[in-house]
Amino acid sequence: MANLLRISGLTVGYRTSRGMVRALDDVDLELGSEEFLAVVGESGCGKTTLGLSIIGLLPPRSAKVTSGSIDYKGVDLAKLDPNEMRRYRGSEVAMIFQEPLTSLNPLVRVGDQIAEAIVLRRQRKGSDQRTVGEVMQRLYRTDKSGFSRWPRLRSKIPRDLRDQVIEWLNLVRIPDPGQVIERYPFELSGGMRQRVMIAMALSQEPALLVADEPTTALDVTTQAQVLRLMKEIKDKLGTSILLVTHDLAVASQVADRAIVMYAGRIAEDSNIYDLFSSPLHPYTQGLLSCMPTGTKEGSNLKPIPGSIPDLTLEAVGCRFQPRCPRAMDVCLQKDPTLMNVKEGHKAACFLYER
Ligand code: SF4
Repeated sequence: MANLLRISGLTVGYRTSRGMVRALDDVDLELGSEEFLAVVGESGCGKTTLGLSIIGLLPPRSAKVTSGSIDYKGVDLAKLDPNEMRRYRGSEVAMIFQEPLTSLNPLVRVGDQIAEAIVLRRQRKGSDQRTVGEVMQRLYRTDKSGFSRWPRLRSKIPRDLRDQVIEWLNLVRIPDPGQVIERYPFELSGGMRQRVMIAMALSQEPALLVADEPTTALDVTTQAQVLRLMKEIKDKLGTSILLVTHDLAVASQVADRAIVMYAGRIAEDSNIYDLFSSPLHPYTQGLLSCMPTGTKEGSNLKPIPGSIPDLTLEAVGCRFQPRCPRAMDVCLQKDPTLMNVKEGHKAACFLYER
């Protein structure tokens, strides 16, 4: 599988009143074309920062990439300025967020929002010379002062665009898309809104889709439907997907491979089967023992004691050591690096040092 994305030594810090928080520390990872990679770990382990770094949406005032590179098709995304990054965001790398209600424009019909995304893509590809403003003036009412985003009573999406919008909504299995394009985001259920977000992201035909906890706000049935949809889309369109989730069960349902993050570092990197059948890192083993299985009657969940370390402090030794049931003397002195333990299975732990 050829690599689409290669991240090397990525370190990202956030300026806070207590000092610099190292949200990512020397992270290396590769993502192949058409691969479904899950990034899992507790809240605060750096997985969302990883997704935001790839798409160039880190908060500019507080966050900083201090070192490392994000090589996407030979271009280092970490070095691009905001204008250059706009050429990649959406068209090459798209992102869907946890809560679509805060990502969609509440004042614009969902059909118009997807249409706007399609116009932008056509412009980038040079297949439509009209500006977004020219097309959008047909979608929104204009007044004497010029452009206004107040919508018309009914959406006036041009015929060719309307067909495409409906096509994308069909792809994400929205029932009766002809009606749905006339709806505002608040008129749709959480699952439908998330499907609209996925349709909008996919309408850009990105090679890489970063999905940040896309199913966390959904009920279990809708979550399963959205996950199945993402898997189908990956198989059908050949889009690589990087799924950020705290839920190992979600990762197990869809991902080909998973990386487990802890305190801004990668603790384990493995194909999904080996990660669940023979986890190596004590942190992964701890996460799995916290997972409800629903099969063993009377068995208790075993939470990992303690909490993630203060990332403003310089780490000495293994970051997981205060919580690790298998800690050794060396773990207090040195920080383990990610090492190959088996074919395609890496762990950052001295238990596997030869
Ligand atoms: Fe535990 Fe040591 Fe491995 Fe860290 S390096 S996970 S403390 S055994």
